[in-house]
Amino acid sequence: MSLAESSKLNKIVKQQYLDLPQGDKVQATYVWIDGSGEGLRSKTRTLDSELKSVQDVPEWNFDGSSTFQSEGSNSDMFLIPVALFRDPFRKDPNKLVLCEVLKHNKQPAETNLRDRCRRIMSLVEKEHPWFGMEQEYTLLGTNRHPFGWPRNGFPGPQGPYYCAMGADKAYGRDAVEAHYRACLYAGVNICGTNAEVMPAQWEFQVGPCEGITMGDHLWMARYILHQVCEDFGLIASFDPKPIPGSWNGAGCHTNFSTQDMRQEGGLEVIEAAIERLAKRHHYHIRAYDPKGGLDNVRRLTGQHETSNIDEFSASVANRGCSIRIPRAVGDDKKGYFEDRRPSANCDPYIVTEALVRTCLLKEEGDEPAHYTQ
Ligand code: ADP
Ligand code: MN
Ligand code: MN
Ligand code: MN
Repeated sequence: MSLAESSKLNKIVKQQYLDLPQGDKVQATYVWIDGSGEGLRSKTRTLDSELKSVQDVPEWNFDGSSTFQSEGSNSDMFLIPVALFRDPFRKDPNKLVLCEVLKHNKQPAETNLRDRCRRIMSLVEKEHPWFGMEQEYTLLGTNRHPFGWPRNGFPGPQGPYYCAMGADKAYGRDAVEAHYRACLYAGVNICGTNAEVMPAQWEFQVGPCEGITMGDHLWMARYILHQVCEDFGLIASFDPKPIPGSWNGAGCHTNFSTQDMRQEGGLEVIEAAIERLAKRHHYHIRAYDPKGGLDNVRRLTGQHETSNIDEFSASVANRGCSIRIPRAVGDDKKGYFEDRRPSANCDPYIVTEALVRTCLLKEEGDEPAHYTQ
């Protein structure tokens, strides 16, 4: 069987069944991050009453020995519902439930970075930190080759593909369209999409989102993308450099502002934050991909609109920098800045946490500080 055989099953026949009335039962799909820190897992249960808020969703559990999350001998892990979305696949009244994972001793699992992010965000609530993340990804076909690329060899060189129109330039738009609408239906705060520089590479943007909700919405947007791609027989890859050589990598630019940055005189606050970031480059690089920098080193070469992984740089409107101040923000003298370093496969919880630690909690040095609340 080839990888995407189930995408060829008859989706119209499937729809006959999905159109059946479901009585007063609700299907709730619990979604969580697995032990790789990149993969998403989910399972569904039937609940009896309509779910109005995440507090209505009961805790659940799963077998952590099958998700790289625990040893077989003590493998029960807890699923703690933290954010509720409408289910765009089964539609109302069904739900997608984003969960935190706790170990058998009720401590956060190793790849549950949300727990710590939430604590850090609670320290800076009054500053109203907003984030917007630009998720780049590559559509792969069943052979794990970029979708639409010639079986042997390469498409024409980069240039015509970014924001492009036309069947010879935009590879896989159906999946992009389906994902966008599914996110809107679900209640994910998606704010845009565009075709990227490498053919079969795309981007969607989520934001602005305040505090912990940035990570929640981005992870759910990724979950929805993976499931949409199943229907099309495609695979969404978040590898930061899927094709070596003269092809753009995939990042997750993270835009950041506080109330002070968004108000009159905000540019000075932005510049002060950038000065702090300049002194803590390596801490951020370690946080910006799941392998502590080893993934991003393939992407941050100083070419293809990236900065060099070893050097910090910042300026207005320059896409070859670690930090870019958008042109309009430079002109208005207030707004936000963009950190271009995070990898496409970053965990948004640790990326947003790191920005808050350095820029707002004024941490220095290579290690995150401890706080007693
Ligand atoms: P680029 O020009 O870098 O491609 P995009 O238009 O793709 O920029 O993405 C801009 C991102 O900035 C979006 O995710 C948006 O939500 C976010 N954003 C806009 N205003 C703010 C703000 N004040 N604070 C934080 N993020 C913001
Ligand atoms: Mn963008
Ligand atoms: Mn982009
Ligand atoms: Mn950008």
